[in-house]
Amino acid sequence: MRAQSPSDTAFTLEDIKVRDNLVAAQETLLNVYRCRFGIDLPVVRGGCTSGAPRQGFSRPAAFEGTPTLEDIEVRDELIAVQESVLNTYRCRFDFEIDTHITPEGCPGQPGPTDTAIFLPFTFDPLVLPEDFDGDPPPGLITPTGVSVAVLGVNEGRFVVTTPCGKISTVSSGLPLSGVRVVVDPGHGGSYDVGAVGPNGLAERDLNLTLSRAVLGELSSRGIPAASTRTGHYGSLLSVRAAFADALGAEALISIHHNAPTMRTGDEPGAEVFVQSVSTRQARFDSARLGGLLYQDITAALAGFDNISWSRLSDAGVLRVLSTRGRDAYGMISRPTVPAVLVEYGYLSNPSEAALFATDEYIRVAAKATANAIEAYLNTDRSGTEVVPQPRVFNPASAPSLCNEVPLE
Ligand SMILES: [Zn+2]
Repeated sequence: MRAQSPSDTAFTLEDIKVRDNLVAAQETLLNVYRCRFGIDLPVVRGGCTSGAPRQGFSRPAAFEGTPTLEDIEVRDELIAVQESVLNTYRCRFDFEIDTHITPEGCPGQPGPTDTAIFLPFTFDPLVLPEDFDGDPPPGLITPTGVSVAVLGVNEGRFVVTTPCGKISTVSSGLPLSGVRVVVDPGHGGSYDVGAVGPNGLAERDLNLTLSRAVLGELSSRGIPAASTRTGHYGSLLSVRAAFADALGAEALISIHHNAPTMRTGDEPGAEVFVQSVSTRQARFDSARLGGLLYQDITAALAGFDNISWSRLSDAGVLRVLSTRGRDAYGMISRPTVPAVLVEYGYLSNPSEAALFATDEYIRVAAKATANAIEAYLNTDRSGTEVVPQPRVFNPASAPSLCNEVPLE
């Protein structure tokens, strides 16, 4: 099916409502700051009383008609402008309010620090001789355990891309070369928690736990693999995708758990998203890898008894396109290596969330994932077919906020 163009695709009133509510909430917060610090008072509708906005919370007006792409874009721009004014206020008033939520921190103030988790093994780091003039490895695990792509060498130091997309250097690290599979634990760090289960389980942590178990399975089968994220820190999608490309991996698997709960049934509602707009070979490989993952994961999950699964009617191996006709998810559209994104199930569903918190789930899901990856690498088997009808969906953009972690 051809992708729909923006003009013949309706945005829903929900798309507008979400944005209008955010605009109103940000406006209210701006007014709170204005009244508290006595700035820009003429723009506070209704004025201030005792250091607070007289009108309290501002409510969005109801939207009438059919929302267009322009209606969405105007709102997104406004949200970004409000955000930037909020951050200006936060930084201006001597760091006494909410400076921890400004993206880069305030000038002259340290930002919040996320932490890398040290890897559970020790290694002999590669230190370059002063006169090194060969090719460095395409990737490294730095002394603090952060995986990075290597851009080159400068004065005996590795030039690398940080998780937040900056250029930095490190003196040593564990070389990553000959990596066949890159695993991507979705979300991470304080700005990007992902879904949160009713039991408090955060998707960023669950994805990391499962990714580590998948890496363990792959390593026990002699399949060289690496992870885009090795601990509790944020990493930009562009950096994750470039890492897999730099390593020249044969597959990139992004690991996620879904929300919100749509409906319940007696079958697992796993979804695997595959590439649509990419090179022909990558598209073919992505569909084959996705088919194998879907088949093995749903079969393994179906073995758990007494779970009330959440599932959408078109769940399966899916191409998901934005209304502009592009692969909707960044981890599918950005990499040039064959990539898939797996939503194992619905973390928002209490029955599934309780399962996902168990060691048994991690063990079973990791094994099924590794089985599919092994079949993809070592056979020409293909699993479940791709659903013919692409899903059209515009996901919220990934947070661009990111705190650097120490690399050594
Ligand atoms: Zn996710």
